[in-house]
Amino acid sequence: AKKQGSAGYRVFDPTMSNPAFKVFQMETDLRRSLQHQDFQLYYQPIVSLDTGKIVGFEALVRWKHPLRGLISPVEFIPVAEETGLIVPLGQWILYEACRQLRYWQTQGAIARDITMSVNFSARQFSQPDLIEQIDRILAETQLNPQNLKLEITESSIMENTEIAAAMLHQLRQRHIQLSIDDFGTGYSSLSYLHAFPVNTLKIDRTFVQRLNGTPETLGLIPAILSIAKTMGMSVVAEGIETPQQLEQLRALSCDFSQGYFFSHPLAAQQIEELIITAPE
Ligand code: C2E
Ligand code: CA
Ligand code: CA
Ligand code: CA
Repeated sequence: AKKQGSAGYRVFDPTMSNPAFKVFQMETDLRRSLQHQDFQLYYQPIVSLDTGKIVGFEALVRWKHPLRGLISPVEFIPVAEETGLIVPLGQWILYEACRQLRYWQTQGAIARDITMSVNFSARQFSQPDLIEQIDRILAETQLNPQNLKLEITESSIMENTEIAAAMLHQLRQRHIQLSIDDFGTGYSSLSYLHAFPVNTLKIDRTFVQRLNGTPETLGLIPAILSIAKTMGMSVVAEGIETPQQLEQLRALSCDFSQGYFFSHPLAAQQIEELIITAPE
């Protein structure tokens, strides 16, 4: 039951029916979990459509909530962005992803050109000391900047195109690679592309999931591939689940693929098993 207190504040019942309170509760829990490092990265392989070999991984964060178990990033990343907690969380994610890739390198488990893709939200891009943070993490983990790939969405670039362009150029000067995530779902995809020094476009999985073997289901995919080719960018197709989808993308000379068809996102130890058992 809700009561109006004398100071004007409300006392909410513990079922958290109020969305504002839910966010507040989650913020409190997120803060606590940040101190306890109750997060874990999963890694999803990105595979060459040519050779079938793993060319990289995408780091995907999970929250190991002390009471509720594993929580999807779809649930808590928006709250982390809204509350600014994405900044410390994002630093931990970047550090952990770089550390893990560097560890696999030093173990001789993976080829030297395998990349680690890390998601960056708009809020992270507006930090003035972002470049310094990235430099520090690369120095601490001793990862070669060429092995790091940052995934940004169209909308986070479009929020402030000038700052974003300057930031992206600084990252490229360091040889860090850049991907545009969920490409095709944002607005004004084309007019600004030339202004951003991007290496890779990731076709959003909503496009890939429509593919059923017939040409009518291709939609914007051929256009995206041709834009990328013109601009010297590579293309990752996300969310490949079926052999038909794989074949259709291969027929169009798409470069890379990522999806449940090859592998779900996996914990580091499962990735190690996958690498060891993978045929050369
Ligand atoms: P995203 O960056 O587009 O990541 C791809 C999502 O698609 C992942 O969901 C992945 O598990 C899922 N996926 C991969 N292959 C398939 C497939 O074949 N079929 C289907 N249905 N799904 C597939 P996940 O891990 O739940 O992450 C969801 C979103 O949360 C991400 O979308 C990204 O926007 C955000 N996110 C995840 N990790 C991070 C992070 O470390 N930092 C930030 N800022 N955002 C993150
Ligand atoms: Ca992504
Ligand atoms: Ca994506
Ligand atoms: Ca997405």
